[in-house]
Amino acid sequence: MNDCIFCKIIAGEIPCKKVYEDDDLFAFHDINPMAPVHFMVVPKQHIASLAETDASHAPVLGKLFAKLGELAKSQGLPDGFRTIINTGRVGRQEVYHLHVHIVGGPDQLGHMLPRNK
Ligand code: 5GP
Ligand code: ZN
Repeated sequence: MNDCIFCKIIAGEIPCKKVYEDDDLFAFHDINPMAPVHFMVVPKQHIASLAETDASHAPVLGKLFAKLGELAKSQGLPDGFRTIINTGRVGRQEVYHLHVHIVGGPDQLGHMLPRNK
């Protein structure tokens, strides 16, 4: 097993607040939420970042993106949400296991993300 913290969360070796799990995907709340609702969706397969993907990852990436809207609604975000993927050093990625942040909550986004008008 590698050292990846998200692989350990997926394996149940580190506790988390789980949102969803199936054969290919895992979703859990961010330990340091930046909004009333903030969870992450990850492939169970260890992919370090979006910079490491190629055509072989298309099925799992397609499955992941096709699930985001349903998961967001299930977490109480019927009016929309912010989707964030940080990639690499310049993208300020902290955990090198590909993850999509889903961030939302009533009228919070303007305060938390300066570029959001
Ligand atoms: P990144 O900057 O890589 O896109 O974001 C990594 C995210 O993972 C951060 O928002 C951070 O709060 C979250 N995180 C880091 N370690 C843990 C952990 O052990 N458990 C959970 N639930 N989230 C974590
Ligand atoms: Zn991993």
